[in-house]
Amino acid sequence: VKAAIVAVGSELLGPGRPDTNAAWLAERLERLGAEVRMRCLVADDEAAIAGAVIAAAAQSGIVVVTGGLGPTEDDRTREALARAAGVPLERDPDRLERLRALYASRGRTLGPEQERQADRPRGARFLENPVGSAPGLIVALGGARVAALPGVPAEMTAMFEAGVAPEVSALGAGTIVRRLLRVAGRTESSVDVQLRDLYDAVGVEVTILAASGSIDLILRARGADVSQARARLEAVEGEMRRRLGADLYGDDDVTLAAVVGGNLARLGRTVATAESCTGGLLGGELTTVPGASAWYRGGAVAYANDVKVLAAGVDPARIAAHGAVSEEVARAMAAGIRERLGADYGVAITGVAGPSGGTPDKPVGLVHHAVADRRGSAHVELRWPGDRALIRRRSVVAALDLLRRRLMEG
Ligand code: ATP
Ligand code: MG
Repeated sequence: VKAAIVAVGSELLGPGRPDTNAAWLAERLERLGAEVRMRCLVADDEAAIAGAVIAAAAQSGIVVVTGGLGPTEDDRTREALARAAGVPLERDPDRLERLRALYASRGRTLGPEQERQADRPRGARFLENPVGSAPGLIVALGGARVAALPGVPAEMTAMFEAGVAPEVSALGAGTIVRRLLRVAGRTESSVDVQLRDLYDAVGVEVTILAASGSIDLILRARGADVSQARARLEAVEGEMRRRLGADLYGDDDVTLAAVVGGNLARLGRTVATAESCTGGLLGGELTTVPGASAWYRGGAVAYANDVKVLAAGVDPARIAAHGAVSEEVARAMAAGIRERLGADYGVAITGVAGPSGGTPDKPVGLVHHAVADRRGSAHVELRWPGDRALIRRRSVVAALDLLRRRLMEG
């Protein structure tokens, strides 16, 4: 069954108030086997809500609306549903009595504004609210069922589970399972070309996303039940894993830093960092991993040339000969920090993050990364477009990936 989500709330349209209800509902609907095809946000405005609900219902079997069911004047969802369905809004006498009793039990009286919570479009069904006062509504609109729930997240989730989830499962849509595969050291297009022929597998949808230096593949498999969905997922996932080999660094929520840290911990080895243009971001990323103290020695932010000498032990003659942004200096920083901090691995980054400071020879976005160990050092040079923040983030990913690959070599 196709599903749509309409979040009502003028405050959600501006910055600062994320629509977390829709994110939660999308995940939940998917797990119940519904295919979320549309998500929209509308202001607290009757015509806007009615328009959104009509558009959503025209292409869905189930529409979930959140917000705008409270007692205040700006709560317009009831009126909008009546308008969308072309039916009058009616006050339900039984519901009014129950609201009165509910308010009385809390020592409050039901004013004319609160009485609106007993209104429903003709033919609509109320959905009980075990947590708050505003009931939800279920309205038929063409071939779609529209379920309207309050905006308060705790009320919305409780009412969805109790009143809407069983109906979605009953629509017999089966289930969806998903997997995230994470790739480093590759471009989006090269991954796309390598895997393209796998995108058409029956019941499996693949999305490829580039995320600052790393690539995410999102696999969603549909099946009549969990075991069928899993079997479909695993067939595609297994082949992708085989083709991607060492470029695949993990799945689902794992980060590159956590993978590197896990490998260091397993091998009983340590790492130290020397960073120029990333100014400590690499050390920061490594220390996001709990337990990093077992394998991260520390590092130097070696920004100025004389600090590269003082803190990372680079020979000044090397900087004079090749420049601070060079393969030679990156390798020297990695070897120097490794030795000074007594680590098994040294990792270094030196580059031009911009927006100024680039030359024809060494343009903005040129970054050298190096990893040193007792066998010697590895180096990778990357030239990336992008702004300063993006270049710095990608450099961290590239350095972590260089270390990860060195660790895999033993
Ligand atoms: P209700 O139908 O329960 O009255 P409402 O939208 O009319 O909901 P508001 O006063 O607008 O009530 O919102 C109640 C709270 O719920 C606010 O803190 C609001 O930010 C939050 N909220 C409403 N919609 C969402 C949403 N889509 N995602 C996250 N929070 C939401
Ligand atoms: Mg609101």
